[in-house]
Order: sequence, then structure tokens, then C-alpha cells
Amino acid sequence: MSDSFQPALVLVVDDDMTMRLLARETLEQAGFTVEEAEDGHGALAAFEALRPDVVLLDVVMPVLDGFEACAALRALEGGLHVPILMMTGLDDSDSINRVYEVGATDFITKPIAWPMLGHRVKYVLRANRAAMELTQSQQRLTNAQRIAQLGHWEWDIGTDQVQRSEEVCRILGLTPQQMPAAHTAFTGLIHPQDRLTVEDAVYAALYRQQPFSVDFRIVRPDGTVRIVHEQGEVICDPAGKASHMQGTTQDITERKRAEEQIHQLALYDSLTGLPNRHLFKEQLNHAVARSERGDELLVMLSLDLDRFKRINDTLGHEVGDSLLKEAAARLNQSVRQSDVLTRQDHEARNHLVARQGGDEFTVLLTGLNQPQDAAKVAHRILGALSQPFHFAGNEIVVGASIGIAVYPLDGADGETLLKNADAAKNYAKEHGKNNYEYYNEKMNTSAVQKLTLESSLHRALERDEFSLFYQPKIDLTSRSIVGVEALIRWQHPEMGLISPADFIPLAEETGLIIPIGEWVLRTACAQIRAWHDAGLAAVPIAINLSARQFHQQNICEIVTTALRDYKVAAHMLELEITESAAMQNAEATSATLHKLKAIGVSIAIDDFGTGYSSLSYLKRFPIDSLKIDRSFVTELPGNQDDVSIAQAVITMGHALRLKIVAEGVENEAQLDFLAANLCDEMQGYFFSRPLPAGQCTQLIADHAGANRTASSDRFEGPVARTA
Ligand code: C2E
Ligand code: MG
Ligand code: MG
Repeated sequence: MSDSFQPALVLVVDDDMTMRLLARETLEQAGFTVEEAEDGHGALAAFEALRPDVVLLDVVMPVLDGFEACAALRALEGGLHVPILMMTGLDDSDSINRVYEVGATDFITKPIAWPMLGHRVKYVLRANRAAMELTQSQQRLTNAQRIAQLGHWEWDIGTDQVQRSEEVCRILGLTPQQMPAAHTAFTGLIHPQDRLTVEDAVYAALYRQQPFSVDFRIVRPDGTVRIVHEQGEVICDPAGKASHMQGTTQDITERKRAEEQIHQLALYDSLTGLPNRHLFKEQLNHAVARSERGDELLVMLSLDLDRFKRINDTLGHEVGDSLLKEAAARLNQSVRQSDVLTRQDHEARNHLVARQGGDEFTVLLTGLNQPQDAAKVAHRILGALSQPFHFAGNEIVVGASIGIAVYPLDGADGETLLKNADAAKNYAKEHGKNNYEYYNEKMNTSAVQKLTLESSLHRALERDEFSLFYQPKIDLTSRSIVGVEALIRWQHPEMGLISPADFIPLAEETGLIIPIGEWVLRTACAQIRAWHDAGLAAVPIAINLSARQFHQQNICEIVTTALRDYKVAAHMLELEITESAAMQNAEATSATLHKLKAIGVSIAIDDFGTGYSSLSYLKRFPIDSLKIDRSFVTELPGNQDDVSIAQAVITMGHALRLKIVAEGVENEAQLDFLAANLCDEMQGYFFSRPLPAGQCTQLIADHAGANRTASSDRFEGPVARTA
């Protein structure tokens, strides 16, 4: 088609030369360019060569008549849309119908009204141009929609019929013929889980006469699922009643997938595939909200691998990564198995395992029957993680430390709950590893107050805020006081009396344990001297040495100096070192112990049973006594495991000619069991709590007196229960 600056080209086809001439003259006057052809064949050839803008075609021609020529023209390339006006003298309705059947645009009757011809041609050209432009813009729109995977539809509410564009059909995976016309039938294509949502949106829009917008899944006949975004609005009739709804449907599957991928990257840990701490936090908050509404039990486990850093440093990051991956899988597995503990099966799937970072993981348990069930899960996790791992020819054994916090008991919000589970985990780690601990407030106090404590700990010595309490040790045969253990106390100006469990680890960390330890040693020596000078029975004092103190270079010198300064006989002083401190560096321990032993002081291994030491080491250490850790005494004699452990320690200790001391004896049943099993000494609240120096002096004096005057030396029960 020519543009507006060039005159339109008209091809006039007629076997009658006069007719062609008249047509040419008329049309040229009207501003057209004219070409001619004498029959159907000539018309086809001229059309292909000249591409006219309009064809005037006579009906009755020899060789190829107008009808045949018109049909043939339509089939040519570019022939479909060219306006063809047929000139006919046949005015019967059959002929007129034929004109349209063969694809002509319109007809002009003969004889031709020549003055009108130019107008007719102009009109048909303009109408054709408008139609072409519309087709083009429709084509562009269709293309744009196809590219955007966007289709449109219109729903006649009265008849329930829907017109859908081809793109909608393509999105739904149907041919236009397969497409159900009724709107109600469309529901069948929506994913069953999304049907209600879609219907709610559509009917709410109809009811309120407002636009709607909804994302949902459709299931194509071949089973594939696509995600679509649908928007629509209501069209009302003049009476204001909703008559139609029209809108668009867009396939947003790819966009959604990309979004999901981003979501996956932002919320999941790429190494283990577990939710990361962001997602965990979000889900934790939901769980807390749910728990608040339904008072469902919520338990948080915080966990990290023991010795992970060392494995990573020595075997490399690749092994470290493999270990984390495998550990995550085992963790998931052991949490999955916990469904037997929950009230309903589906709740088990809600257990959430996440990686917080590094070798730190969290597990959120929901729907447990009781808080104690979390211990079973923790136990199973420990079992799974302590199985050896095999990577690149290495067999690796790790354990884990787990802290447990229960909502809302141990924290009224997710953040506090997590913080407290962490505190319990750190506690478990400090107390032997490969273990779990339930949170209690004491753990938190030390964490929260750590900072303030640290600065005031610096000043505590100068300000004379420390004191020693003394707890008697009783001989189980003679039932007399055979020694005392010095236990440090810190009288903080604001916080009151602080337990050594809360500040000794901090003093260790900061190195302040060195001057504090020396103060303890010298104060204990001064006390021995004071009791000696007061004429009291000779009672040795035991002091506790922390790992750092014990491993300091000049420990022997410090001890010798203290003994000399206070003129104390070495056998009056006993040093307690915990089993775990002794095992930290067994070679060095053995050397130091020998030197100390040479001075003449006694040595005790404290908290025995918690450090997994081997007998071969014990044999090499020049020690005098073993103190059975309180945790094995507490449940005596009811707990069969503890009974076996206590008996084994006593038998083994005696075989190594060691004295056995039981810690934490709180009742008569424990005492009877220990006495019956030939334990040598005991210490605990049953006889006396740790006492300030003055009260302890009194107790020793009274006891010595009572023992001297009593006909029997049998210990009759608790004597002092203060402090
Ligand atoms: P430890 O040496 O094993 O001391 C025994 C702990 O058990 C003491 O806690 C004592 O008060 C407590 N205890 C004694 N009998 C009973 C009982 O019948 N029931 C219960 N529930 N507890 C009992 P304390 O005084 O809080 O000391 C805790 C730990 O702090 C000590 O454990 C020791 O390891 C450390 N510690 C105490 N004083 C010093 C010190 O001067 N230097 C160093 N380095 N550590 C110290
Ligand atoms: Mg001790
Ligand atoms: Mg102990």
C-alpha cells in the first residue's frame, strides 16, 4: 500500500477497452494512478508486478472470469487484504452473494455512475486502511501480550459465557476449541488448593464492584502446573448492575520461580540446604505466636559441634564443609524420628532445624507432650553425631553440646529463648562436652553480668571483697572432721554474694585467676597458722587450683613461698585440681604434680568421673585422693548407673592406694551407701555447708570437744547447717 504522499495505484481489469479508458480518465482526475489488465490472467500478473492499492474487477470476462480472478487474487501473497471492487451488471442476489463469497470487498453495479467512481474508490481505500491499522495494532497487542504471556478475557455474567484471547488458551494449555466457554467450567482448571481463594476474590469483586487481583496455580491437561496472575474489573450496565467482568491473565511461572530462587538464597543455607538464621527467626516468631494462642509446648535446642574448629584447621575447609553437611543430615534425620514424642503425627513435621552459622545449629521442637521429651531428642541427636564420620580417608569423631530452653518458662520471646538456649549450650560445653543441659537462670546471670563482673573483678582484690568459706570433710569410719576445703566467695558491693561458679571461669579467661589464686593460697595458709596458734586440732586445708593456675610456670615457687611465709607444714596443705584440668596436658601435669609432691603437699583430683580420664594416666600421677563428683552422688543409692560408678571408683581408687572422698552428700541414705561401700571421706550439706572462717573455727572446736567426751565416736547426724 502506498503512503499518503504517493497517489494510490488502481488496477482496472476489464475486457472492454472503452470501460478501461473511461475508468482511467475518471480515476486519474480524482488523483489516482491507473494501470490496466484485459482479463483474469492479466490481472494476476499485473497484481504481482505492481502491487496495486485497489483492484477494480469486471465480472464477466473471457478466459478467467471476475469471480475466479478474485478468488485467485486473494490467494496471492499480499492479496488477502487488498480492497477488490467488483463491477457487475448482474444484480440478482445469487451473483451478489457470489461477489462476497469469492472475497471481494464490495461491488459497483453497471452501468457505472462515473462521477461517483472516484468517491467509491476513495471510500473503500479509507475503510480498508482503517481496518488494516486496526488489524496491525491488534497484531501488535497480541504480540506484546504473547511476549508478556498475557491474555485477556471477558465474561458475560448473564449468560456465563467467557471470551478468551488465544494467549489465555495457550497459558491454560488448551486450544481455543478445547476451552470451556462457561466461566463456571473454568474452576476445574484451577489448582484445587487455590480454588477457594480465586472464587473469593472474584465474587468479592463482583459484590463490591471493585477490581480484583489474585495469583494462583492452574493445572494444565498434561498435568503441568503454571502460576498465573489474574486481574479483573467489573463492567456495569446503565442501571448500575454488574453485567460483565473483563480482565487479564498472565503466566508468571518463571518470575515466581526466579523469586523462589532468590528466596531460597536469602533464607536457606547453601551448604546444608537448611533454613538459615533469618528464616529461623521468622519461623520462631510464628511459632511463639501460635504457642501463645494455643498454649502449645515449644522447646528450643541450640547446638554446636565439639572440636569443629580444630578439625577445620587441621584437615581443611573441604573436610570441614563435608562434616557440616553430613552433620546437618544426621541432625535432620534424628529430629524427624521424634514423631513418637508428639501428640499428633503432623506436628513432627513442624520441627525446624536451622543452621545459625559456622558449626552452630538450632532445632525448634513443637507439639511435644512435655518438656522432658526434648531430652530424648537431644539424646538421639548426640547419639547420631557421635558416630564416626568418614571423609577423604579420615575417620573423624565429633560430639555436640546442646542447650535446651523451654517457652515461655525460659524466655517470653523468641530472641530471649534463643539466647538462653545458647547459654545452656555454653554451659554444657564448659561442663564436659558431648552433653545437653536444660537452661536455668544461673547460666544467664553469668552471661548477662559478665561485662559488669569483669570490670569489678579487677577491683575486687584491692577492695578486699573476697573471703574464704570452709567446708569440713568427715572421715566415714571415725566420723570426725579430718580436713576442710576452702571455697572462695565474692561479696560484691551491689550484687551481693557471688558464687565461684559465676566468676572463676571469667577470672580464668582474663588471667585474674593468678593473683586471686595466690590470695586464696596465702589466706588458707594464714588460716592454718591461726588455728595452729589457737591450739585447735590440726586440720589440713584443701584449696582449689584452676587449670591456668596449675599450669603457670612458677606454681611450685608460689606454694613454697606461702608455706614459708606462714610457717605452715606442707602436709597441712592439700591442692585440688579438677580431672579435666589435669587431662588438658597430661605430660606437663605429671611433671608439675611430681614437683609439688616433692614439696610435701597432698594432691587431690577433684570432680572425678566427669573428665573421662584413663586409668593409665591416674597411675602416673602422684596423687593422694580422688573426689567423686557430686553428680554421681546425688542419686545414690537409687540410680543403678551411679551405684556402679561409685563402686567402681572406690574399688579402682583403693587398688591405686588412693583415698576416696565423696562430694555433695546431702542425706543419710547417701552416707549409708558410701560407708557400706568403704568410701573413706565425705563432704556435703548433710554434715555442713561451707562456713565463714569464724563459724568453721567454732565447728572444729565443738566437734573436737564432742568427739573427746563422747563414749562412742559415731557421727550422729548433721551438726551445722548454716551458710
Ligand atoms: P568444688 O571444688 O567441687 O567444690 C564443691 C562445691 O560443691 C562447692 O560449691 C560447694 O559449696 C558445693 N557443695 C558442697 N556440698 C554440697 C552438697 O551437699 N550439695 C550441693 N548441692 N553442693 C555442695 P562452690 O563453693 O559454689 O564452688 C564451686 C566450684 O568453684 C568449686 O567446686 C571449685 O571448682 C570452684 N572454686 C571454689 N573456690 C575456688 C578457689 O578458691 N579457686 C578456684 N580455682 N576454684 C574455686
Ligand atoms: Mg574442690
Ligand atoms: Mg568438686
